[in-house]
Amino acid sequence: MSKSIEPLCEFPIIDAHVHLDSRIQGGAALAARKLNDFMVGAGVTRAVVLHLESQPWQVEEVADAIAGCDRLVGFVNIHPHAPDCAKRLRHAIETLGFIGLKLHPRLQHFDLEEERSRNLVSLAGEMGVAVIVDAFPDGDWLAMGFSPLVFARMAQKCQKTRIILAHFGGHHCIDFMMIAKRIPNLYLDFSYSLLYYYDSPTVQSLLYCFRSMKYERIFFGSDYPDRPVADVLDASRAIFTECGILPTDQRKLFYENARKFFQWTDI
Ligand SMILES: [Zn+2]
Repeated sequence: MSKSIEPLCEFPIIDAHVHLDSRIQGGAALAARKLNDFMVGAGVTRAVVLHLESQPWQVEEVADAIAGCDRLVGFVNIHPHAPDCAKRLRHAIETLGFIGLKLHPRLQHFDLEEERSRNLVSLAGEMGVAVIVDAFPDGDWLAMGFSPLVFARMAQKCQKTRIILAHFGGHHCIDFMMIAKRIPNLYLDFSYSLLYYYDSPTVQSLLYCFRSMKYERIFFGSDYPDRPVADVLDASRAIFTECGILPTDQRKLFYENARKFFQWTDI
């Protein structure tokens, strides 16, 4: 990957939501190296890799792979029903170097309102690490009763935990924005949703939410490998620029909010 690509803009970019591409043959280390190269090519300074238990690698292998790449940090995915989930979270954070917990209630088939889920989310908060929860209302989840209320209740019960709701709740974005205004430990990323709903009124709703939240507590994520990182960045910036979002506000979305959230002082 060439490093000669011009920087996309005058500030560093943080991609707060990516995955390793498990279709890449050759282990997690190769997948991480390729991802790191894509970040260099796209001008992304740091990316948060969300480990997924469904991927064909042991968590230790993923941790080593991330540790070997200068632009990557990781969130560990743990099922709250695992009897040793608390021990695994401690091990992942304290020994393997992960910096947060990833939960995917839809794909992992659990209920966020269960005590086991809340206990794990609370433990993350006690340990001082954030939790990212998938919040994209696809047809399966809608049919199962997806509700913004579930996320709100969880955040209220786990007030010490900073919780990122991934994908901004999709077309429920206004509900999520209204909830986040009342619950200070909630944050949002707009990965996947901004481009998934391209050319629909939901994009206008998302932009309305950003404005209404004064561009605070909101992070950019590419959700790679769903799409190439550089393509997501280009398309997202084109939408923002076309809609008149000022460079100072774009800076918050692409960089400053995540930098502050993670308290990174080196970028
Ligand atoms: Zn994702």
